[in-house]
Amino acid sequence: MSSPPLAPPPQWPGSPGPFGTTELPYGVFRPAGGEARVGVAVGNQVLDLAALAVADGTDPTIFRQPSLNAFLAQGRTAWDSLRRRLQLLLANAAERGEPAPHLHRLDRVRLQLPIEVADYVDFYASEHHATNVGWIFRPGADPLTPNWKHLPLGYHGRAGTVVVSGTEVVRPHGQRLPDDGRTPVFAATEKLDFEAELGWVVGVGSAPGSTVGVDDFADHVFGVVILNDWSARDIQAWEYVPLGPMLGKSFATSISAWVLPLAALELSEVDPPPQQPELLRYLQGSAPGYAIDIEVSINGEVVSRCPYGSMYYSPAQLLAHLTVNGARLRTGDLIGSGTVSGPEPGQRGSLLELSWNGTRPLLVGGDTRTFLRDGDEVVMRARTSAGQRLGEVSGSVQPAR
Ligand code: MN
Repeated sequence: MSSPPLAPPPQWPGSPGPFGTTELPYGVFRPAGGEARVGVAVGNQVLDLAALAVADGTDPTIFRQPSLNAFLAQGRTAWDSLRRRLQLLLANAAERGEPAPHLHRLDRVRLQLPIEVADYVDFYASEHHATNVGWIFRPGADPLTPNWKHLPLGYHGRAGTVVVSGTEVVRPHGQRLPDDGRTPVFAATEKLDFEAELGWVVGVGSAPGSTVGVDDFADHVFGVVILNDWSARDIQAWEYVPLGPMLGKSFATSISAWVLPLAALELSEVDPPPQQPELLRYLQGSAPGYAIDIEVSINGEVVSRCPYGSMYYSPAQLLAHLTVNGARLRTGDLIGSGTVSGPEPGQRGSLLELSWNGTRPLLVGGDTRTFLRDGDEVVMRARTSAGQRLGEVSGSVQPAR
């Protein structure tokens, strides 16, 4: 199965590249011979916000950082005012040349992990994904567990193994149950997989014991990244009952280097699918979904395009559920959406679903795949219904060590 690539995005006039002034994503970069600092991507360049602050006569400290966290902690008023300033500055940049001394070519800098990840939580918010996984792992039973339509299910992941796009992923070892046996073996995974997801980045934390309601989402969440939740299905299948995934996922989670602000997503808000039965009160409220498609390719060939707009639970509902017991949020918390799978076969966000647990190989580059092979490169790109880009998250599989 393959699909045509996404149409090229609208480009910043005078500077060809993936990001325009309706995007302006934030990241952390290191110029040749320089320290890490915060920047904003525009065209094929990145604007050094620390240098811009110095030129403006303001304090550059929050941008002279190896992560976005100090800026994220400042809150929505600061995020919005900087975005307005940058849009004005960059909209006319070709004529004025004002920010030119602070722009670096993207191919001359190193991008780093954009946030210091505080806690990492991953949800399971796609009804299509949960139904497919239910059919695969619990054939004959109701694919959705009795709780699924009452609360967004999730698990706590491992913040310390979140890595930036481009980081190689080593095939992990672990325990798994052979197909023909009852005794587990220790070996490298034979079912290495990806999961196409979005990750919501918390900017402003909350006090212990307080809750963050559905309508408070935009006061806490700064923006969104593309997230690949690498998964070892054979390790996961043996370990996950009854407490959920652990080592089958905690070896690596990749995120894009650029964080697209929530302010950029206003044009792509959509109503989530109807939610029946009616949810408990704390999960109700105005909580948009977002029409964002994630395109997954293996070794350059598109294998799936996953519609985030089809997710059953909105990101605001994930946040409301996460905090309803009084658990605090912290700057840098990363909230995975769960695998994004749409209703069509070409919209499935994992090889587990695309190959139906290895029983239906798919064609990739004239060859077949069930799960990932050593050397495979997985790239996920995403864009909104308004044509805005979220950058990409890539990673290639290294042999087990
Ligand atoms: Mn996941």
